[in-house]
Amino acid sequence: MRNKTIFFILVLFSTNLSPFNWKGALEDIIGLSPLGSIVYQELKGKDNINEHQEYYYPKYYNTTAEPPTTTNVTFEDVVGLEEVLIEIQETVEFLKNPHRFITMGAELPKGILLEGPPGTGKTLIARAIAGEAGCAFYQANGSEFHKTYVGEGPQAIRSLFEKARDNAPSVVFIDEIDAVGSKRSDDGSAAGNEFNAMVGELLAQMDGFKKDSGIVVIGATNLAKNLDTALLRPERFSRQIKIPLPTKNGRCQILEYYLKKLPPGKLDLPINQISGEISQLSGKVSPADLKNIVNEAAIVAVRHDSNVINMDHFILALDRLQLGIKNKLEQTLKQRKRTAYHESGHAIIKILKKEPVSRITIESRGHALGATFGKATSDTETADLTKEKLLDKIMISQAGGAAEEIIFGNKTLGISDDQKRAEEYARILIEFFGTEKFPGVGSIPSSETMKYEIDKEVLSILQNCLQKSKELLMSNKEMLDELANTLLKKETMSEDEIYKTLGMRKPAY
Ligand code: ADP
Ligand code: MG
Ligand code: ZN
Repeated sequence: MRNKTIFFILVLFSTNLSPFNWKGALEDIIGLSPLGSIVYQELKGKDNINEHQEYYYPKYYNTTAEPPTTTNVTFEDVVGLEEVLIEIQETVEFLKNPHRFITMGAELPKGILLEGPPGTGKTLIARAIAGEAGCAFYQANGSEFHKTYVGEGPQAIRSLFEKARDNAPSVVFIDEIDAVGSKRSDDGSAAGNEFNAMVGELLAQMDGFKKDSGIVVIGATNLAKNLDTALLRPERFSRQIKIPLPTKNGRCQILEYYLKKLPPGKLDLPINQISGEISQLSGKVSPADLKNIVNEAAIVAVRHDSNVINMDHFILALDRLQLGIKNKLEQTLKQRKRTAYHESGHAIIKILKKEPVSRITIESRGHALGATFGKATSDTETADLTKEKLLDKIMISQAGGAAEEIIFGNKTLGISDDQKRAEEYARILIEFFGTEKFPGVGSIPSSETMKYEIDKEVLSILQNCLQKSKELLMSNKEMLDELANTLLKKETMSEDEIYKTLGMRKPAY
């Protein structure tokens, strides 16, 4: 299951560059960094698995179906998902009083599928449905059904549903349902056959219980498209609800919810100030991540012998999540200087292109040598993206390497991530906006020649932007030196320090 877990996550975060979904693709690129709108993070090695994406994956592999539990979780504990809650309100009403619906001839879906990245609250919602309805709650993890002996998997599913029937009205929650219900295999192997039998059993169970039995099955998955389509038919998981990562506003609400749970007097700033700042600095993160940041900040405060949690503690907690556990790698002075110039290059072009820079660091954490942090200026940022903005972003991505070339005469492997990002932007630019050579491509190129031509065009855009990036840095070389040298001394610079060093006024974004 572990391998499978990692596989799903990688799929979820890998880039999907269909020209029809360029916004999604962009979000994916931005999402490549676990947090922060855009983090230019220099990686030391290529072992670049985002630890935290795996971090919150359910760990309860060995629990068998729980006895009927009622949960005391309510909708009030589910923050920022009002629309989802409205959508499932009826299901709660049904579970409270199935007969009212039945006598009215009103039919509700037997199964609800919650689809979303890890940590977005799928389990929480399932619990809250049972909690609101005050009914029994059964939870099982899809991977539990993979038993050693033939026939045990399907038997486990049968007995789970039996118990749920005996204690109806009830909610049956099957987490990681893809482990039971992914596409059936036709390889004829014993494992494949057992798996098919399990999917079959789940289907049979769902078909078997009547609408009036008062059972609602809730499934959770990271990716619904992995599921056997038979599961998604009417009478089965006919209602699918996507649980997205929270927007900036949502992040703010979730942070406030968890900040309010801290003991009184433990914050040295008003809650809304902390939530405002942290929700802005964090990009694509789950509610679970946000909950963790609050908890981590409290731990940091204890470690720093402080009686209150201050903004620095929150920033450190955010850092920790962003770049992995602080792990000072021994960098030679020469390496540090290179990293300082690299990050300063990103930062200066970013600033010259009127994009916010919130922080730069050359403190190594985990695999990262350094990083330049942006800001999530607004959640609709990708929607207003123009061709010019994309070109700027390519220049910004290449600015680290450009600075290295200017100062050291060459680039290092550390820029491979920047390079990848720049290339992805260039492809989006060609496919969505077109270029002089490629007016309006608009669809996936089918022929090999076309692909080849596009590759050539990508290369030419990249070369062009790198050149421009270098020129712009050359004509601002004093700024570059100043910033890099200060960074070398301070290791981490805040937004205020950056603008002060550059002798610029901090813009209001
Ligand atoms: P999932 O099942 O989608 O992986 P969980 O429901 O297990 O996510 O949530 C992980 C953690 O994050 C839990 O501690 C949960 O309370 C918290 N959490 C998730 N979503 C929300 C939310 N919308 N509001 C408040 N807390 C949340
Ligand atoms: Mg879960
Ligand atoms: Zn870089």
